[in-house]
Amino acid sequence: MFDAAIVGGSYAGLSAALQLARARRRLLVFDEGRRRNRFAAHSHGFLGQDGRDPSEIASDARSQLLAYPNVTWCDERVEAVARQPTGFALTGAGGSHHEARTLVLATGIVDRLPDVPGLAERWGRAVFHCPYCHGYELDRGRIGVLAVSELSMHHALMLPDWGRVTFFLNGAFDPSAEQSAQLVARGVTVERQPIRALEGDPVDVVLTDGRRIALDGFFTATATEVSSPIAGDLGCAFADGPTGRYIATDEIGATSVPGVFACGDAARAAGNVALAVGDGAMAGAAAHRKLMFG
Ligand SMILES: Cc1cc2nc3c(=O)[nH]c(=O)nc-3n(C[C@H](O)[C@H](O)[C@H](O)COP(=O)(O)OP(=O)(O)OC[C@H]3O[C@@H](n4cnc5c(N)ncnc54)[C@H](O)[C@@H]3O)c2cc1C
Repeated sequence: MFDAAIVGGSYAGLSAALQLARARRRLLVFDEGRRRNRFAAHSHGFLGQDGRDPSEIASDARSQLLAYPNVTWCDERVEAVARQPTGFALTGAGGSHHEARTLVLATGIVDRLPDVPGLAERWGRAVFHCPYCHGYELDRGRIGVLAVSELSMHHALMLPDWGRVTFFLNGAFDPSAEQSAQLVARGVTVERQPIRALEGDPVDVVLTDGRRIALDGFFTATATEVSSPIAGDLGCAFADGPTGRYIATDEIGATSVPGVFACGDAARAAGNVALAVGDGAMAGAAAHRKLMFG
């Protein structure tokens, strides 16, 4: 019986694990190895690691974690978790079975990309969702924003701080007079012609009338889903965010199910590496508190 099982061994899970490892608890970390930012060559905005390869940030953290002899690592997807009187029983995709007294869910989310030909191939290289992560490198250049709904106004109104913005409505919504005035006030060019495809390097928008608009970068919102059904299967409550549902927690990362904690992108409306690491540290300490005091 482990003291804690952590499902997801990326930034949030590693951070939770580090707290529990340093509390001298026996823990098991499962990781399937599909970090959300695996499409990007550089990670920005995380203190002390700005501009590094995101896989190196995670692998350095993992090496430091595995120096603690009380940590067991399992490169396996957890398929199922069942509640038991003393904790939780976990079943791995490879058929492994383990038990733990507490559970930390750090599974991250999956991005469902808009269905525009050529967009998926450029995700993380020239097509992004987060201006803070990838806006600065565009050097105040030509930026496209793809509307997916009225919520894309948020993107269109933010991005002029990073460059010259064209807002591609693509039939997703029609700005009101007030919204049009806001776009004008921020210097945003509105393009109503639908998009046929994204092409070129870094990215050209090809419109259905044949026009081609060369850009330095392109932003869009994705629809998001928690990567694993475990939280739902265990009966954890969820909350609604602007891009999808996420696991609801209190301020220390406790879910609605006793003994289950959640952190990182899976447990917030919008996340990044720094927030995942902070959430993980809190959830790890909260799981430790549960082990000490019940
Ligand atoms: C293209 C792109 C670029 C980004 N760039 C930046 C950036 O520059 N700066 C920044 O701060 N943020 C960036 N982000 C956001 C950042 O990737 C996330 O906020 C961060 O990865 C969240 O960390 P996490 O640990 O919560 O989840 P993740 O990093 O997504 O990790 C979750 C882990 O859990 C594993 N997992 C899931 N289910 C299971 C299961 N059942 N069993 C075992 N393992 C499981 C997954 O395989 C994965 O390894 C970017 C995101 C994208 C999409």
